[in-house]
Amino acid sequence: MYATVKTIEDILNELAPVETAESYDNVGALVGRRDAQVTKILVALDCTWDVVQEAEKLEAELIVSHHPLLFHARKNLLEEDAEGRILCEMARKNLSLVSAHTNLDQTEYSGSAACAKLLGLQNIRKETNYLFLGELEAPMKASDLEKKISSAISFPVRCYGDGNAMISTLAIAGGADDGDWMEAKALGAQALLTGEVRHHNALAASMSSFVLFDGGHYGTEAPLVPFLAEYLQNRLNDVQYNVRVFPSQCAPFGCV
Ligand SMILES: [Zn+2]
Repeated sequence: MYATVKTIEDILNELAPVETAESYDNVGALVGRRDAQVTKILVALDCTWDVVQEAEKLEAELIVSHHPLLFHARKNLLEEDAEGRILCEMARKNLSLVSAHTNLDQTEYSGSAACAKLLGLQNIRKETNYLFLGELEAPMKASDLEKKISSAISFPVRCYGDGNAMISTLAIAGGADDGDWMEAKALGAQALLTGEVRHHNALAASMSSFVLFDGGHYGTEAPLVPFLAEYLQNRLNDVQYNVRVFPSQCAPFGCV
């Protein structure tokens, strides 16, 4: 018995059922063949050109990405844009792609949960579809927490709000989710770590004595990659498939 793309699709579907993804999303098996044999998997946040080259070097047959390709409908497959070039290259190299996006965001293998684990938060809990909350070991000034987060996720963090505010409960919504700050406040958090803070939300939050930390979309979601790779490896080992899972080392924006 050997693992196929379908085997991996099924394992991911158990963790993060595709029907829980948002209606605008595009998840599951997206490129390649479901019956292709898989011996090596590369897990990445994005299926970029560099990630495709990395997969080829590893002799991986499958890329598992968080952000999907073909998110927007295409009417051609020409190599005249970045995605078209990637898709054609994947077809030439017999590479398949399975993506788990908003369905994964709602699980304990989301970027938010990964950040919470890296920060050592206690009592980590999922309060809404995308909001995770946890307590710091001891209350901390926002300006100090900014440094702690930056070091935990290996990415620059910007703090919007009063640097002297004391934070004991932190909400996390990785990626583009700054609109959830009011919900985070209502749930008892004093701050929200997210990936893309827009000016109007930064302003409104700071006027409500709430702190927003912007860790970057990439910075707050890339931490999920090693956790997801480890999960897949353990699941495949459990059923004794001879498959090796690698977290991508590609970092398109800096230091993760
Ligand atoms: Zn994202």
